[in-house]
Amino acid sequence: MKTMHVMIALGLGLKRNWHIFAGLILGVLAGIWLHANPNPTIMAAFTFIGQLFIRLIQMVVIPLVISAIVIGITSIGDSKQLGKLGIKMIFYYAIITVAAVSIGAGLALVMQPGIGAAHYINSDVATDIQAHVASTIEAQKGNLLNIILGFVPKNPLSSVAAGDMVPIIVFAVMFSVALAKVGEINRPFVSFFESVFAATMKITDWIMCFAAPGVFALTAVAVSAFGIDIFMSISKYLGVLAIGFLIQLFVVYPIFLKIFSKVPVTMLYAAIAEAMMVAFGTASSSATLPLTIACCEKRGISHKVTSFVIPLGATLNMDGTALLQVVAVIFLAQAYGVVLTPFLIVQIALLAIIASSTCAGIPGAGLITIALVLNGMGLSPEQLVAGFAFLFTIERITDMMRTLVNVTSDAVVAAAIADNENEINYDLLNNPDEYNDVID
Ligand code: ASP
Repeated sequence: MKTMHVMIALGLGLKRNWHIFAGLILGVLAGIWLHANPNPTIMAAFTFIGQLFIRLIQMVVIPLVISAIVIGITSIGDSKQLGKLGIKMIFYYAIITVAAVSIGAGLALVMQPGIGAAHYINSDVATDIQAHVASTIEAQKGNLLNIILGFVPKNPLSSVAAGDMVPIIVFAVMFSVALAKVGEINRPFVSFFESVFAATMKITDWIMCFAAPGVFALTAVAVSAFGIDIFMSISKYLGVLAIGFLIQLFVVYPIFLKIFSKVPVTMLYAAIAEAMMVAFGTASSSATLPLTIACCEKRGISHKVTSFVIPLGATLNMDGTALLQVVAVIFLAQAYGVVLTPFLIVQIALLAIIASSTCAGIPGAGLITIALVLNGMGLSPEQLVAGFAFLFTIERITDMMRTLVNVTSDAVVAAAIADNENEINYDLLNNPDEYNDVID
């Protein structure tokens, strides 16, 4: 029943932006056709359109994130209230991520997708990926402390230039807390960022006119890379992932919202439907961020909560990625006959929580940080390389699914916090007919 309601709500959300949905469906069909009839010219054209869309939207992400954080934190002002909000946000994100890794581990242990998989893991591996994979694993080895060190920018401007989101956010949060502390003198600076925010949201509006062809092209290119044969050989692995993601979306989030707020999940999903579809198409939480913010703000969640919770969530909260990492690692362990003791399973789950939250919201990032989780599993170097390369071959499709989950959970947590803080306009959220279109 609940699932039914959620589907109807998604439909309501889609009505206004059915063109993005149409882009998605047509993209899948075009991808299947392209797989059967490879055409380099069409592929090049689709790749160009898709990349153009991603680049356009990425262009506004950094000014948007920085300005959103500055406005969000300074508008909360009072550092006690800020601390309370911050702790609640981390607590909520933690609950959702722990649920994700538990579901991933439970499903992978019960359904055992990796048993008997070793032969096609080894045979399917494309040798050209192997060199890349070996160097990726090497680069990640024992690197946890370095990764944490990397969160603190030596020079915030070079982080901005390099587009490193986590250090940018660390600096932006500290700077904004300081701005809130210094009082009225912060006005010119905050006004400046209010203008930056308004202008970047306007650009986002324009870019979203290009969302349907962008999502179409990205989906077509992604789907065209897979043959039915690959799907058959990994159907169990993909099935476990899909069931896990569906449980997150249709069981965990509704229960979470019921326990911690009075936000109707159906309405929330209707409100963020466009962001969910763009997340699927782009496989990037960062690129979807402007749209997630626009959907939340224009449909009832206050600016104060959205601008604080969503940018942090888009960078740090990756429950879909954590779920995938746990399933992928258990899959490889089963394939190679590693004995999965309860201790090892807990270790995998904990490392996946850390590895997922250190990964950037860009395509493929979750697969690189998975090297952290694979460490200490007792796999031989050859098995590691083959297993990793196998995961690479089916990366994009799983990335699209997990990114949709990552983005949805950011909005779920933002909505719950907004409810708790009386920062939600239910008259608007509960009336999809009144929604402002994301595209003005
Ligand atoms: N692509 C994901 C995201 O942007 C991160 C990942 O690779 O898992 O949320």
